Amino acid sequence: MTGKIGVTVKGATKPLTLDASQLSVNAVAVNGRPVKFAFDEKRSKLKISGVPARESRVEIDYSKQVSDDVIFGLYKSKYGKDYILATDLEPAEARTVFPCVDEPAYKAVFRLQITTDERLVVIANTPMISKESAGRGRATFTFQETPRMSTYLFFFAIGRFEEARINTDGIEVLAATRPGQAQNSRVALEIAAESLSAYQRYFGVPYPLKKLHIVALPEYHTGAMENWGAISSRESYALITEDTSFTQKNRGAMSMVHEVAHQWFGDLVTMEWWDDLWLNESFATFMSYKMTGRLRPDWEMWSIFLRDEGFHALNLDALSTTHPVQGHVRNVAESMHTFDAISYGKGACVLRMLEAYVGEEAFRTGVSDYLKRFSFSNASGKDLWNALGKASGLPVARVAREWLTRPGYPVVRVAARGGKVKLSQSRFTLSGKKAPGVWPIPISLRADGSRKSTFLDRRTANVEARAEGELLLNLDRTGFYATLYDGAGYERLARNFSRVGPHDRAGIMYDLYLFLQAGLVKPELYARFVALCGANPDAIATQIVTEQLMQVTAIADESRVIRDIEPKFYPRLLDAFGEEPRPGEPPYVGATREYLASQYASINESYARKMASLFEHFANLDPNLKSAAAIGYAMTNGARAERRLQEMARTLQGEVDRANIYEGLCAFREPELVEHTLELGMSGQVSRSDSGYPLFLSAYNPYARDALWNWITKRYDAMRDMYAGSQQFYLYMGRAIPFCGVEREAEVRSFFSGKRFKEGGSSVTRLLEQLHINARLRKRLLRSGN
Ligand SMILES: [Zn+2]
Repeated sequence: MTGKIGVTVKGATKPLTLDASQLSVNAVAVNGRPVKFAFDEKRSKLKISGVPARESRVEIDYSKQVSDDVIFGLYKSKYGKDYILATDLEPAEARTVFPCVDEPAYKAVFRLQITTDERLVVIANTPMISKESAGRGRATFTFQETPRMSTYLFFFAIGRFEEARINTDGIEVLAATRPGQAQNSRVALEIAAESLSAYQRYFGVPYPLKKLHIVALPEYHTGAMENWGAISSRESYALITEDTSFTQKNRGAMSMVHEVAHQWFGDLVTMEWWDDLWLNESFATFMSYKMTGRLRPDWEMWSIFLRDEGFHALNLDALSTTHPVQGHVRNVAESMHTFDAISYGKGACVLRMLEAYVGEEAFRTGVSDYLKRFSFSNASGKDLWNALGKASGLPVARVAREWLTRPGYPVVRVAARGGKVKLSQSRFTLSGKKAPGVWPIPISLRADGSRKSTFLDRRTANVEARAEGELLLNLDRTGFYATLYDGAGYERLARNFSRVGPHDRAGIMYDLYLFLQAGLVKPELYARFVALCGANPDAIATQIVTEQLMQVTAIADESRVIRDIEPKFYPRLLDAFGEEPRPGEPPYVGATREYLASQYASINESYARKMASLFEHFANLDPNLKSAAAIGYAMTNGARAERRLQEMARTLQGEVDRANIYEGLCAFREPELVEHTLELGMSGQVSRSDSGYPLFLSAYNPYARDALWNWITKRYDAMRDMYAGSQQFYLYMGRAIPFCGVEREAEVRSFFSGKRFKEGGSSVTRLLEQLHINARLRKRLLRSGN
């Protein structure tokens, strides 16, 4: 690719220094005259001499070799024998596409012109204004100038696109897909358009562009990206149909609503610097639940919020190597490691807590004022707190600061004695390491049959209540803290479990799982409550406990406590939720069945055989049963199943269906077969979008531990290069290694010494700590009950 960029500069530094990387700079001119320049590839800096302080025009001729091997930056998103050339630039890949000042605070207006094959379609942030022949079968596509925006939001894609469109509030919303796929974009397109219109009303600020694209890319390394006016997405999020399982459909739809929220929060108003990444991500995450919940009330979004955001954040934030939501980010390399459950999930929980504190209307007014005031510009966390404080008249800044600028969260211990309930708080860590901290905690509790609230901003406090009555904290699970009851307290909760509400049950189970990992409760107590969940069918608690059981099985499947608990959980709940879909059932019932059936098929041979018999009808199967059928088929048929499943992974058009097939390909009890699956992901025979599935799915297979670890040691560097060392690569490693490494902690540590440790930054220190916690839990689980 050859490129030419013209920048208008005023008050230039001497020399003028721009960010540039992986480019060849051929010539630089200032006000039409060639000047000297020096390109320091190692530091990614282009230094240009002779730029006067007065307003000047700097023009740079450069070229770029687009690598075949990466799926980040400017890359080839391949399908069949063809590809789409696309960009994916957050946080700092814009400098690999054109020289620029590649920091979010340096906003610019972009005027884009692309010359390419005239038969192709070109998509950019703004609408095309002209297409003119450039001779020899080529055409020049010119686009409207963008508003002032940050470089990481710049986007273009060139390919043989097919488009579907909807008009909403006079804005054209389009889905662009590879040929033959546009009809599958309907679900994503509709919810994107609905949310666009709903956000215009909620924010009270019009969407500033004329169109919004959803660009479905066949190879994509993360989930989706909020490029202004041109959201890019992996196909499993953008191409969802009525035949997609509820969990996958929900994930895709939510992702659209998340990226549409960013069109205001992130794109129109951008964080000053990456230490406020949470401003973008927590807000878009929080809003995606709030808005999807309004648009699809039967989806039970706040239950899914607990399962997918709140609880993951509680786990990560209990590591002593966690970071504050509002972190200290010195450079772009560090910013890579903050795209995690803290920036997204914990931040979203704190915003939910703040909204409950100031009230929905004051929250909306504050956000709207903030967006109006900082439109086309940048802001920091304190600007938002000030706006919320002004709208509500409450000391938002203080509460927000304490929760957002400090790492971790508290555990509240509850002890009832002599007509009083004593509450005490301290920072909770999974490792058991003592750490300081007192948080201002708005506490809701039920005692003596009535709801009470108190504000715990000291280490201890007493609440009046009869000791022998029912006692429950953190009602409906809106607070970001864990609650540890004493022995008598758990006894009472167990007796009253059938009367505890769904979110509260989920909360109790989650806290118990944290305490199990920390060694604060015995495995037998945790198992007792799992059995109670088995006897009291409830969708969200079932999904959360199933996920926990997947994890403990991966860590110590031989444990007697865990083996004993399975018959008291899976068969009872499968019976309660029904093994087969029932007409008119709510979507989350199907989702719960999917959780139960997939996990039970992977641990129980006779159930696996039952599921295997469904596999023959895979194409027409109920979407919520597809993954269980693939798992059952693999478990039952071993090597005989491999050839067919691999063939399907290579040839199935839909990523959503392929994801189900990988569930099977990672469930084999024969380690060498799982190794083939891992290699398939990197073989070039399947979409590179799929390369993460084998990693995080086989991590839950205890038979695959050695195979997965050996494969990681062999292919770590190659995979890191393919992901250009992006955040997504480290997210995958963080999901796989704490499980497959449980029997070889020392070996894993030595693997991550030196260069790998340094490059991996906080992602690696956290995965090592989680590994240590899992290894310790494994020992405890094997000791108890055996
Ligand atoms: Zn986001």
